[in-house]
Amino acid sequence: MSVEQFADRHIGPDPDAEARMLEAVGYATVDDLMDAAIPETIRWHGQLDLPPAASEAEATAELRALAADNTVAVSMIGLGYHGTHTPAVIRRNVLENPAWYTAYTPYQPEISQGRLEALLNFQTMVADLTGLTTANASMLDEGTAAAEAMTLARRASTNRSPVYVVDADTLPQTIAVITSRAAPLGIQVRVLDLDTEALPADYFGLHLQYPGASGAVRDHQKLVDAAHTGGALVCVAADLLALTLLRPPGEIGADIAAGTTQRFGVPMGFGGPHAGYLAVRAGLERMLPGRLVGLSRDAAGDPAYRLALQTREQHIRREKATSNICTAQVLLAVVAGMYAVYHGPDGLRAIARHTHTTATRLAASLRALDGVHVVHHEFFDTVLTRVPGRAEAVVTAAADHGVNLRLVDADHVGISCDETTTDAHLRQVWRAFADTTDTTGTTGVADLPDAPPTALPATLLRTSDFLTHPVFGAHHSETAMLRYLRRLADLDFALDRGMIPLGSCTMKLNATTEMEPISWPAFADVHPFAPAHQTTGYQRLIAQLEGWLAEVTGYDAVSVQPNAGSQGELAGLLAIRAYHVQRGHGHRDVCLIPSSAHGTNAASAVMAGMRVVVVGCDTDGNVDLTDLDTKIDTHRDALAAIMVTYPSTHGVYEPGIAALCAKVHDAGGQVYVDGANLNALLGYARPGHFGADVSHLNLHKTFCIPHGGGGPGVGPVAVRAHLAPYLPGDPTGDHGTDRPAISAARHGSAGILPIPWAYLRMMGPTGLTRATAVAVLAANYVATRLRAHYPVLYTGNKGLVAHECVLDLRPLTKTTGITVDDVAKRLMDYGFHAPTMSFPVAGTLMVEPTESENLGELDRFCDAMIAIRAEIDQVATGRWPTQDNPLRNAPHTAAMVTADHWPHPYPRSVGAYPDGVDPKNKYWPPVRRIDGAYGDRNLVCSCPSPQAYED
Ligand SMILES: *Cc1c(COP(=O)(O)O)cnc(C)c1O
Repeated sequence: MSVEQFADRHIGPDPDAEARMLEAVGYATVDDLMDAAIPETIRWHGQLDLPPAASEAEATAELRALAADNTVAVSMIGLGYHGTHTPAVIRRNVLENPAWYTAYTPYQPEISQGRLEALLNFQTMVADLTGLTTANASMLDEGTAAAEAMTLARRASTNRSPVYVVDADTLPQTIAVITSRAAPLGIQVRVLDLDTEALPADYFGLHLQYPGASGAVRDHQKLVDAAHTGGALVCVAADLLALTLLRPPGEIGADIAAGTTQRFGVPMGFGGPHAGYLAVRAGLERMLPGRLVGLSRDAAGDPAYRLALQTREQHIRREKATSNICTAQVLLAVVAGMYAVYHGPDGLRAIARHTHTTATRLAASLRALDGVHVVHHEFFDTVLTRVPGRAEAVVTAAADHGVNLRLVDADHVGISCDETTTDAHLRQVWRAFADTTDTTGTTGVADLPDAPPTALPATLLRTSDFLTHPVFGAHHSETAMLRYLRRLADLDFALDRGMIPLGSCTMKLNATTEMEPISWPAFADVHPFAPAHQTTGYQRLIAQLEGWLAEVTGYDAVSVQPNAGSQGELAGLLAIRAYHVQRGHGHRDVCLIPSSAHGTNAASAVMAGMRVVVVGCDTDGNVDLTDLDTKIDTHRDALAAIMVTYPSTHGVYEPGIAALCAKVHDAGGQVYVDGANLNALLGYARPGHFGADVSHLNLHKTFCIPHGGGGPGVGPVAVRAHLAPYLPGDPTGDHGTDRPAISAARHGSAGILPIPWAYLRMMGPTGLTRATAVAVLAANYVATRLRAHYPVLYTGNKGLVAHECVLDLRPLTKTTGITVDDVAKRLMDYGFHAPTMSFPVAGTLMVEPTESENLGELDRFCDAMIAIRAEIDQVATGRWPTQDNPLRNAPHTAAMVTADHWPHPYPRSVGAYPDGVDPKNKYWPPVRRIDGAYGDRNLVCSCPSPQAYED
């Protein structure tokens, strides 16, 4: 084995371990195993046409060369993306810290208290700054947050009109995303210049930008009042930094606020990832889409955080879900929230004042130039100038000085200031104007006044306090901040502590070499609308990545724009819709979805304007082909698509997939294969070849982008050639085409694409194929070891599973009362994150070990599960009562097992150090089992007052 091979680092089991696992499963080689597991109908016997594996050093060098092809200019383009200083203590200890970035979505709240607290800080920050009562724990970006606000308004409005009014001074990419989302839902978007055009008679909602995209700060009060009179709801897309100085949306009566938190310490990253936000007034909190963190209490009555209300909304409500959002932007929300914690309210105000003062100084110096007109008198950070006929020349001259400005049109240039703007930048901007305009009367030097009068309207100055909670005042020194971040990280269980065997989520290695490039300035500090010649490195990286993803999936074209799997689903379904419409089949609107599907599938279908028809599954977990025939017959003329996951969410390779694709095609429908389980296929089967028309991939599953505690992700959409014309377009440049805007930025979360690029580059065709085989081997090894203790619910060919296996707890629950929840919580005592619970079948656990876990860790997990089975047996025999045993009382905290009072019928040591747990290497859950329902009845979704902890 050469130490140069990255694949040997990425793949956990070494050849010796692999041999032992094969022996346990009963196969001589991995090839034999894969031949037996994968149905020949889907098997692909070709060789992946990818460059051979590069070493870590080589891949890093290639990425450095790509980065060097990007030009990092001073960005004053604005339009929702601004320069910001990521505090180094946050960059190193959050963004670059695996304790934060390798964590999973906090569905197991007892072992996620650190990031839940960080997210509660984020929610509090957003709610305080917007002046609204409740904010959720991040949206995907400003455009999609605004689109979610639109659908929320529609649900909540008493006005039945289909019209949604959008102020023309809204970010153009936001208008594009809103418009793309509105069309399939029958919502009519009216973009109106509300300075000059009147509101229509009837509309259900109104979207305003504050400050406007042009920089103008307007008093929206009258518009808000007018909208409310007609029963419409108002969403204000607001800049949080401006809100430290300006009256917040909540104080002018806005119902909803939406936007981005990018400029709170999150690098631009050529468009993302950043945390969007969504906040609502009292009364709308139960309609908020996405994740909401709230306070509840644990079994000891102590306060504890967990996800509130509609946490897994899509899984529960499916086609009735309010939104398809699943993976969000948690890691970036944590960064933004910590930025507010580190700076505190005074620090944020100071940053805002700096930003504003630089803008007013620039405006004053430009006003002194003949031929330059400053359009708006009232602005926060953006100066809009009129330079008739010379805008392009000004922008070019500024670019020559290393500064990017916004070319609005032939006559207008926009300049946005931010935290990073210096006097030197202002002088370069001034010079670009002076050199291209009539300079008579100038001295040739910018006259930058020290403190010109404010350009904020006196009537809109903020008078209310914000961020008054002690957390925003306690961590301003770097030492305090460092310790706060460490303390929270220590509360949590992430991949840096142990295995997270979550079925369908593919929690595999996020290699450091893959991660490092994302904070290089040449990738991090690029504005998404920077001129193309400055971003050639990014463009090459993206083109290569899209090409490689097309190759491994067997599709013809790929777009990386969707910034989560759910968004890829929407993009793929919209492509199907557009294809049918184009062929005169616009009436095809039925989407068949098996009952086993991930909840996002149904929610996405509804968002794409489709009707969901559920297809049943047989007792083996496969799509019931007889029921499929029936449903196709019933809906033949209206059939738009089927959406299936492959391998299925039951963890088996369904042999019927090729037949299924043929049946749907024969009826004129398209086949959407949800690619979340691609980790079981790479190198062995390609959806684009076995009959599918379109898939989304989850780069945060198969391709090593870390889950970040619930995001970021990237959900590329991959299609066969006939759907390629309908792939996502450029949100700022493709108006009026068939290409929808799925995200606000053309390449979505481009800033993290170096991760999958590096993974593919370092694994090469052989490494990728071997990873798939080892992932399948690991799942079968676990299934083999655990089968005698827990039935494996579904198996395919020769009794084999694919890359995950479903353990059936229901028979044990029936006889002992011990539930899947009890087992999940008990695993915490053993030092594990639970497998996926009750998906796709209630009462089961779905285990996906991935190829990255070595045999020692796989055995530790199996041993724990076997020991837990023995504990269940103690309940079965009556030795331990159903209501008082180590499972029901799990997880055990240090406080609980060291308490002077111990009333339980088993020793403290059994609670704390169950079989095999090394006391020197013990992870202590910080809270006991959390009562979720209590928190839902008593909803608290911002930082609780310190007194809340007293009683
Ligand atoms: C994870 C997953 C999704 C949703 O992807 P997100 O990135 O979380 O939006 C869809 N389908 C399946 C089968 C999944 O496992």
